[in-house]
Amino acid sequence: MRRKLAAGNWKMNGTTDALQEIAALGRAHPEAAAEVLICPPATLIAPAARTAGDGPIGIGGQDCHDEAEGAHTGDISAGMLADAGARAVILGHSERRAAHHERSEDVRAKARAAQAAGLMTIICLGESQLQREATNTLDIIGAQLSLSVPDGSTGENLVVAYEPIWAIGSGMTPTPDQIGEVHDFMRARLERRFGAGVGRSVRLLYGGSVKGENAGEIFAISNVDGALVGGASLTAGAFSPIISAL
Ligand code: PEP
Repeated sequence: MRRKLAAGNWKMNGTTDALQEIAALGRAHPEAAAEVLICPPATLIAPAARTAGDGPIGIGGQDCHDEAEGAHTGDISAGMLADAGARAVILGHSERRAAHHERSEDVRAKARAAQAAGLMTIICLGESQLQREATNTLDIIGAQLSLSVPDGSTGENLVVAYEPIWAIGSGMTPTPDQIGEVHDFMRARLERRFGAGVGRSVRLLYGGSVKGENAGEIFAISNVDGALVGGASLTAGAFSPIISAL
């Protein structure tokens, strides 16, 4: 039985004032059956982890370097994220793939480093609007999945998030059939590569314009184990109904 997961990606939003949203979320879901994560900007990881304490909200990062230390100005290693109190890290988000030219091979190297540092990796995949119209979406997803996910991944250290680029922050979502098709495909690919035991234990998140209003319908789709949420994770008021729908 896979534990449901709602992960909030705050992107480059939030200063210390925003910590009150984490405290409020913890109060609203003191005994959440699902796992709840907030991934704030790097500057807030340590104070967010202190705010979350031993409560139900876990803290994650949004990226890490693939090396443990060294001459990489401005970068943060997986071990540093863990040291600051993170238990997870988002990798390969489409905004990083686009703005920082991250290839799936780079994502895999980062994921290997993060898993070695004891972090759960949330690896993001997704097609652009153009790719959906011009090619077979499953070919795109299949290639990203096989190249981005490191060997040796397990149900504990790997989560895969399907995030169609055209659905992120746009208010548009794929139909339930389109989401189900991709998630069933990813499940089959993971089972083929890692065996049924591991393949069935990896959680698959959907991401892209998830809100309180559509969360229930999305979570009812086969092989959807939760959501990666951007805009609607910034306040406890908006994120809470999504957590309740899990
Ligand atoms: C995201 O960027 O990971 C995301 C899912 O954003 P939003 O929920 O705002 O579409």
